[in-house]
Amino acid sequence: MSAQFHNIQNAGWFRFRLGEFECTAIWDGRLLQPYEGIFPNANLDELSRLRDKYHLPKDNIPLDLNVLVVNTGRELIVVDAGLGTTEKMFGAGMGLMGNNLRAAGIDPDDIDIVLLTHLHPDHAFGLLGDGSVPAFKNARLIVNKLDWDYWTDTAKLKLNDFRAPWVKGAIASVAPYRDRVVFIEDRQEVVAGVRMKMAAGHTIGHCTYLFESKGKALISLGDTTHHCVYESVHPEWHFAPIYDADPDESVRSKHRLFEEIAEGKYMLMAYHFPWPGIGYLEKSGSGYEFLPVAVSPVY
Ligand SMILES: [Zn+2]
Repeated sequence: MSAQFHNIQNAGWFRFRLGEFECTAIWDGRLLQPYEGIFPNANLDELSRLRDKYHLPKDNIPLDLNVLVVNTGRELIVVDAGLGTTEKMFGAGMGLMGNNLRAAGIDPDDIDIVLLTHLHPDHAFGLLGDGSVPAFKNARLIVNKLDWDYWTDTAKLKLNDFRAPWVKGAIASVAPYRDRVVFIEDRQEVVAGVRMKMAAGHTIGHCTYLFESKGKALISLGDTTHHCVYESVHPEWHFAPIYDADPDESVRSKHRLFEEIAEGKYMLMAYHFPWPGIGYLEKSGSGYEFLPVAVSPVY
């Protein structure tokens, strides 16, 4: 008898503890990034060597979209909001955050705080739910002002490049939250155990968020880095300049954060690493090795 193929995967959520905090990684989907131009200063022989060694896909680089939810026991916090369902600019296969939140037993109406790393579409457009209502109707939105000013600047709607549709989408996405936006500065505490740390370069106001509880620490890196192999081994590689506002600044931020993570033995969560994007960094040669945590059904 031939049994039917199912062609579906289990729900995209993974729960883990950080001290007294309960964390849940939520999968919003993934985009497929072509190799062309993605690491403009990479040595191509070295890129091929790593691609073959780690059995990475040859025709594109899959970039997952990993949203982090942290329940501190007092506040329910989400870091970044996925691409949402109102825009398909990076292809299909994203906008799954809402369904996966509910599958994980989290009601979006219970979210108190949305922390944004930056206002690019794949991080901010999911602020809008279906029908252009806010995805998190009771949440306040925390964002760095440099990033806010850049990506909600109506003058950029006239530009003749990718920024025009990105700004248009960002303005629409933050619109329902305008009366509950809180601007945050480098090293400022959000709530007890949660602190913002700037890591500019990818965007001018790109933020990371450090969560600490009972001696455990996790840093949510946003787009400080995009690939767990290429950029861990070669943090000096620039990421596509169409996306990185300042590739040199981005590399400096990456070096600084990687060193801090390796020395502090922090757990990291990277938004675009392979699902769920959680692990550790260890110094290795002139770069690092990413050590992913095992995704276990045991909580
Ligand atoms: Zn991104």
